[in-house]
Amino acid sequence: MTDNRIPDSLDSLWTTCHLATLRAGEDGYGVLNNGALAVKDKKIVWIGPESNLPEGIRRRTPTVHNLGGAWVTPGLIDCHTHLVYAGNRTGEFERRLNGATYEEITRHGGGIMSTVNAVRAADEEDLYMQSVLRLKAMQAEGVTTLEIKSGYGLDPESEMKMLRVIHRLGRDFPVNVMPTFLGAHALPPEYRDDPDGYIDLIVDKMLPAVASGGLAVAVDAFCERIAFSPAQTERVLRAAVSLGFKVKLHAEQLSDLKGAALAAQYGALSADHLEYLDKDGIAAMARNHVTAVLLPGAFYFLQETKKPPVNHLRAAGVRMAVSTDCNPGSSPCTSPLLMMNMACMLFGLTPVEALRGITIHAAHALGMEDKAGSLEPGKRADFAIWDISEPAELSYGMGGNPCRLVVKDGEIVIRREDPYTTGRDDVVL
Ligand SMILES: [Zn+2]
Repeated sequence: MTDNRIPDSLDSLWTTCHLATLRAGEDGYGVLNNGALAVKDKKIVWIGPESNLPEGIRRRTPTVHNLGGAWVTPGLIDCHTHLVYAGNRTGEFERRLNGATYEEITRHGGGIMSTVNAVRAADEEDLYMQSVLRLKAMQAEGVTTLEIKSGYGLDPESEMKMLRVIHRLGRDFPVNVMPTFLGAHALPPEYRDDPDGYIDLIVDKMLPAVASGGLAVAVDAFCERIAFSPAQTERVLRAAVSLGFKVKLHAEQLSDLKGAALAAQYGALSADHLEYLDKDGIAAMARNHVTAVLLPGAFYFLQETKKPPVNHLRAAGVRMAVSTDCNPGSSPCTSPLLMMNMACMLFGLTPVEALRGITIHAAHALGMEDKAGSLEPGKRADFAIWDISEPAELSYGMGGNPCRLVVKDGEIVIRREDPYTTGRDDVVL
């Protein structure tokens, strides 16, 4: 922990609470009962037992929030989303449940190309407005940082449109948005017979344009039989790294193409999905400190049966993050809390692993671990305040939302009204 001396003047003080700090150097929740947290200049500057607060500091602090015994966690981090898209795939969902085959669904214009067509047809404002609803749903569950990928445009103009919308969401809402370019998400119809030609377009035109426009921080690709081969993926990763992008990869979701090891070789922040990950892939991730991003929503929605090798990842010391994978085709989900529950029930994570997975380990998956993901002095004052009796309750619930307040850069940005307020006069919310 960095310097934890309390400064003479503060912007705000948060008292009468229990904290799950998730601080570095601990495996558990980092619980601090009867704690307090001090904020100055949008950062956490002090955290400790309330009884250690110096004499007179309350009087000198402009805003003191008495939280009435609530729990405080770091703001949640959703490190893998495709939140910006147009339309939805409800029709396809209904046809599937009425017994339609994959071929029939595709014939009716279903599948990822229906989303690509909807995104290409949508104007920028419409794409933005449709995405705002999903972003707000996530914020209401305590999300203060999220990654959003492009990847439904699949041509230079539409991919740039998506990235501009992603940036605008980050500017307009009190949330940190990490934009990721996912041009290599699927093969666009124009290149059906020339996949390498599409990779040429990404490497020669799209990546340099994204770099010069400052439109993305990271580059991702989908390495899978139904998407891009390891050789094609490697061309994208190599070009991305040479342009200074961080990289990550959709790997081993439906088959084992050794994508995670390839990602590790290129210094990836994360490899994501990983149902078919083998022991060599796990070893490569452990050696190179690649975070494993688990996406139980897609596993559930696609009714997969092969689970990611959680026991082996745990034994190898690979950090495991948990994310919604919010997307219209395989995880139409805006609930990080439900993903924590599913990570426990479907993949066997413990509740503390699920909470670490959607806070500090998710921060690692975005390369933001020095700024976010735990309650520690020096980090952004991003936190969520919950009406729960212990931290495991966040993983326990299926539906419902006990988030009372969301704080971003030290300011309350979401305030849950009754029935979650305590009704006590002495509790200032
Ligand atoms: Zn994804």
